[in-house]
Amino acid sequence: MDCIFCKIINKEEPSDFIYENDNFIVIKDIKPSAPVHLLIIPKKHIDSVKHLEPEDKDLMGEMVLCAQKVAKEKNLKDYRLRINVGRGAGQIIDHLHMHLFSGF
Ligand code: AMP
Ligand code: ZN
Repeated sequence: MDCIFCKIINKEEPSDFIYENDNFIVIKDIKPSAPVHLLIIPKKHIDSVKHLEPEDKDLMGEMVLCAQKVAKEKNLKDYRLRINVGRGAGQIIDHLHMHLFSGF
């Protein structure tokens, strides 16, 4: 599968890693649109929120907790979390991910 995020997860493409655990990676966005702009990416390839199944319920909870953990570690007081769903909403990479913006 030709998915840039799967390649980053498999270390076939370089990226700026911030954090990794069994189910997620957190990297710096290559084109930041805020002073802090991170991407929380599940290792499981899911195209988008539209493709979530009931079995992904825990993964979605973990995703928010993963963002919280990284924000805490980086001493980010306030931050914004965003998931784009579909082209019209700005999703350009079809591998589920959540943006974390901070330092406005
Ligand atoms: P979205 O528009 O929600 O699909 O977000 C995709 C994000 O991934 C954009 O903000 C891009 O700047 C970012 N991006 C694309 N390629 C890379 C990459 N190789 N490493 C880090 N971030 C990337
Ligand atoms: Zn993928």
